[in-house]
Amino acid sequence: MLGQTQAVGLNAFAARVVDVQASISSGLPGFSVTGNPDASVREARDRVRAAIRNSGLSFPELKVTVALSPADMPKVGSGFDLAMAVAILAATDQVASEMLASTVFLGELGLDGRLRPIRGVLPAVIAARQAGYRRAVVPIETIAEAALVEGMDVGGASDLGEVTRWLEGDHVLDTVHAAPVTQAPPVPDMADVVGQHEARYALEIAAAGAHHVLMTGPPGIGKTMLARRLPGILPPLGLEDSLEVTAIHSLVGELSPGRPLITEPPFVAPHHSSSTTALLGGGTGFARPGAVSKAHRGVLFLDECAEMGSHVLESLREPLEDGEVRVPRRDGVATYPARFQLILAANPCPCAPAHDVDCVCSAVVRRRYLGKLSGPLMDRVDIRVRMDPPGNTALMSGSGESSAEVRTRVTAARAAAVERWSEFGWRTNAEVPGSALRQKFPLPPEVLRPIELFLRDGRVTARGADRALRLAWTLCDLRGAERPVEDDVAQALLYRDRGASW
Ligand SMILES: [Zn+2]
Repeated sequence: MLGQTQAVGLNAFAARVVDVQASISSGLPGFSVTGNPDASVREARDRVRAAIRNSGLSFPELKVTVALSPADMPKVGSGFDLAMAVAILAATDQVASEMLASTVFLGELGLDGRLRPIRGVLPAVIAARQAGYRRAVVPIETIAEAALVEGMDVGGASDLGEVTRWLEGDHVLDTVHAAPVTQAPPVPDMADVVGQHEARYALEIAAAGAHHVLMTGPPGIGKTMLARRLPGILPPLGLEDSLEVTAIHSLVGELSPGRPLITEPPFVAPHHSSSTTALLGGGTGFARPGAVSKAHRGVLFLDECAEMGSHVLESLREPLEDGEVRVPRRDGVATYPARFQLILAANPCPCAPAHDVDCVCSAVVRRRYLGKLSGPLMDRVDIRVRMDPPGNTALMSGSGESSAEVRTRVTAARAAAVERWSEFGWRTNAEVPGSALRQKFPLPPEVLRPIELFLRDGRVTARGADRALRLAWTLCDLRGAERPVEDDVAQALLYRDRGASW
């Protein structure tokens, strides 16, 4: 006796439809699972058996084998439970439906037969759709995220009994969940920031060109306050990016049922004591996306980054270069998207006084402290800004512009960059390699003169010169101009030169 249906296996960001085949034969009663299951899948046997019995159905006192295929793909997690139960019920003629062959079943079963939510429902349903399936049954708590996939007929169930009644045609599955719609927590507004005009403008430039930023300054100066406001001046995510970001957060298991689609750039701020695993992803069993992937298409903020281990900071190079992260696994490599905007913040020295004159660190200690932030990682940071305590006049000057006003300029500048670079496959100025900057849109010598002067005096390296050129294009985009002028280049160099003096 055979019963067959489908589930979806998740291997990092790659999801694949898995055939679930149950066969019942005479022989010693038992229940085995084949097809490269890990320990968590083997534990499904107890859950599936109890769930079937506690749903008023019968579990055969025979030899039960469930085969998951393709066998070469490792099967991880509890998401196969429902499909395994359905396949066994089909093999024992307790359900019969032509829908078994055209539906994917996702969800973990409780011993009492209840269907429990699992992580990664959105990427799983997307994979099912891509494999040609048009129908999915998911735990009711995850129906909102499953319903984001166009062209998929999705139904939510709260227990196994409901699924069997639906298969028998006696029941209609819910297509919405009565979860209260939750509003996204409001993104803090730039209008709250008093003074700090230079840092505010640096952040606007960063937003416009997607440049990475290093902010230094004494504690309490407002580095975190500013960084938190970056998502509010970035353009909202387009539909494709929204789905991709939501799929990652679905894998993390952090989606809110009442607010399934993430439409604003995420803001992720791991603690400076975070491990490389927390940052890059991984862990035993199911490889979890790390902070760099949760920040995909958004902002990764590393406060007190000089306190982080050098190897932790260096581990960011790969995602910064490739826009994705490869996490080594027992059975290969898991790849997650990780294209984020990096905002680093650091105190000027370990003693970190509110006013620089009170510093008790030696010159050597001061140099070494920020010296950690040099090398290949810092080569990717186009903007360095030093924040000083605001003078009295700045404090009196009242609140600045709102995030909405800044976002309007940022959005226009980004559109200009897309128009210029899209034929070469880049979306933002920060992504464009130095050679391409110089060759695709060469600038006349008089515009480049400030760079020539800096290079001649050794005040900037060749890489630094490329960074300045990238920034000059962003300053030009913010002005709404066609081409950078000498002043854009000179200003861009200042954002570099400030960093060089540390
Ligand atoms: Zn100090």
